[in-house]
Amino acid sequence: MKISLKSGFCLTAAICTLVISSPLAAQQTTEKAAIGTWGVDTTNMSKTVSAGDDFYRYVNEGWLKTAKAPTGIPYIDAFVEVYLSTEQRVGGIIAEARETTDAPGSPEQMIGDFHRSASDMERRNALGITPIASTLSIVAGTTDRNDIARIMAYPWIDGFMGGGVLANANDPTKQMAAVGVGGLTMPSRDYYLADAEPYIGHRKALLEYIASSLRRAGIDNPDARAEKIMALELEIAKRQWSLGQQRDVVAMNNVMTPAQLKAYAPGFPWDVFLAEMQFDTQSQIKVTTDTATRDIAKLFAETPVADLQSFLTYKTLDAWADSLSEPWVQAHFEFHGKRMQDTSERRPAELEAIASVNAALGEEIGKAYVAEYFGASDRAKVQEMVGYLRDTYRARIQKLEWMDEPTRAEALVKLEKVASYIGYPEKWHDRSNVRITADDYVGNQNRLINWVRADNLKKLTEPTRSWEFPYSPQEINAGYSQSKNSITFPAGVLQPPFFDPKADAAVNFGSIAAVIGHEFGHGFDDQGSRSDGEGKIRDWWTKASRAEFEKRTAGLVDQFNQYDALPGLKINGRQNLGENIGDLGGLSVAYAAYQTYVKEKQGGKAPVIGGFTGDQRFFLAWAQLWRNITSEGETRRRTLSDPHSPGEFRVNGIVRNVDAWYKAFNVKPGDKLYLPPERRVRIW
Ligand SMILES: [Zn+2]
Repeated sequence: MKISLKSGFCLTAAICTLVISSPLAAQQTTEKAAIGTWGVDTTNMSKTVSAGDDFYRYVNEGWLKTAKAPTGIPYIDAFVEVYLSTEQRVGGIIAEARETTDAPGSPEQMIGDFHRSASDMERRNALGITPIASTLSIVAGTTDRNDIARIMAYPWIDGFMGGGVLANANDPTKQMAAVGVGGLTMPSRDYYLADAEPYIGHRKALLEYIASSLRRAGIDNPDARAEKIMALELEIAKRQWSLGQQRDVVAMNNVMTPAQLKAYAPGFPWDVFLAEMQFDTQSQIKVTTDTATRDIAKLFAETPVADLQSFLTYKTLDAWADSLSEPWVQAHFEFHGKRMQDTSERRPAELEAIASVNAALGEEIGKAYVAEYFGASDRAKVQEMVGYLRDTYRARIQKLEWMDEPTRAEALVKLEKVASYIGYPEKWHDRSNVRITADDYVGNQNRLINWVRADNLKKLTEPTRSWEFPYSPQEINAGYSQSKNSITFPAGVLQPPFFDPKADAAVNFGSIAAVIGHEFGHGFDDQGSRSDGEGKIRDWWTKASRAEFEKRTAGLVDQFNQYDALPGLKINGRQNLGENIGDLGGLSVAYAAYQTYVKEKQGGKAPVIGGFTGDQRFFLAWAQLWRNITSEGETRRRTLSDPHSPGEFRVNGIVRNVDAWYKAFNVKPGDKLYLPPERRVRIW
């Protein structure tokens, strides 16, 4: 596959800088933005819905009526659109790698051979279940609870007790060993516990999926085993924490010695498990969901060894199904894709293969990706915007009426210490010693998983790696790391509609700047605010300021609790609070930053473009950014397992709290989104 560049696309950074003097000054050029002519496609705007009644549909009605999710993906939104074009580029990088050198351990060899192993369906079909036969016999060979605990520590076996390496929240310069619980096939505990449709039907389908997986693998008594496995998952679900509880960074920060862990959570052979994890020399273990770990350790002791064995057999089949032969891939899709997410059909096999290489060798591909598609000037432009956002947050924190002086001083210190990482990491991992072959898809993945385990163990002996990215460079994402007090914007997200150097400044402030503001905002959301500038969990708030903060955030919880993600399924305002604070702070601060920009660069008056004022364009961009069409199943899955609110409410639920939006669109009492000023939530 050859990469094709759209006409008018920036070929090199050098050419771009000839016409773009400032990252946000595109309206002075005659270049066309990637969307519409200046960044928002106004042909999608509604002629019947008013801004004040439903801003989301006012901006996006035309698109919502015509857009379609691509084959094999249960939704379409800005992330998917950017992903698909990025995937084309990744496909080009893979095709090139396949034709280049075969030197073992070179990125080209690894990428090329991994792709061969993934896309050779003929061989995968011939092998059937053989690639996981050795893992299945390890499970079958267990004879007691010690054996079961030991293999639950293997990185490529999916048990319900797991381990990993996490930042030490009490001293984030170091990493520490951690244990926690898992074990559910469905997206969250609600799917097991809710006594209503569609959950009852989902549980029935899961039981059938488990039984048919065992049957296909030639395991005896598949139906009886499936009943036991299902019953065990149900018991695990009862003991797990909700997503809202798991967001509580203080409640999750339980540090114990191995001896304390054994006394606290008896029933699970911790000595055996920790030794296999190579955690036995650690003096401290982080026990994330402590009461769930304790209760599930007890459940482990009460469950017959034969049932634990059946459970691990099934988990192995489920975890590897989509890397095996056609019947396994199809069955995996029928349950996880179709049943859980309402995806109507599978993605084309050639795209599945590209996605698989991209996920497994994200950095090896990412290095080639940024060399070709991300220039130093892109980084400088985004860095400049980060500066705008930091300056604006600083000015606003300095003036916040509800915050007292001691808390303000701490908040300002934390703000200055937020580190930003843009595009790609300064250092890359060296995985050249991982053997990747053209004929061993499962083995390739196993060896990469083993490499990650070994690398995690190294982290226990090193200072925290500030250079390490949480994403591969081509990923369409952005994030705040609480333990590093840092924000990261990989190259993948720095594309239209998130960031378009050719778009109007108001559009870039209403999109990428608001996204940057969102990530800054996580440092000061309900959880981020519980750690300091060093990333350490520490209460730096006075009682009075904390009470004021919580009064405000409670208003946002109440508002979002009213919104229906689906008929009969409300948004959980508490669970989604951090993301909603991020959106509200991000949009408010980005708006103020835009005002500064207009003052500094446009003589205090933004031009009118296409009949829209600068303020209007700013909010139109935000609404366009979150347009989406999402299947019912996927909306349900996210509402119950993901703290982000659906796009409609990231728009309507946020703008109605921002005074400038009322002014920009002349929103008045009587309009459906209207909130009287005293009910608008203002935090940062
Ligand atoms: Zn967020």
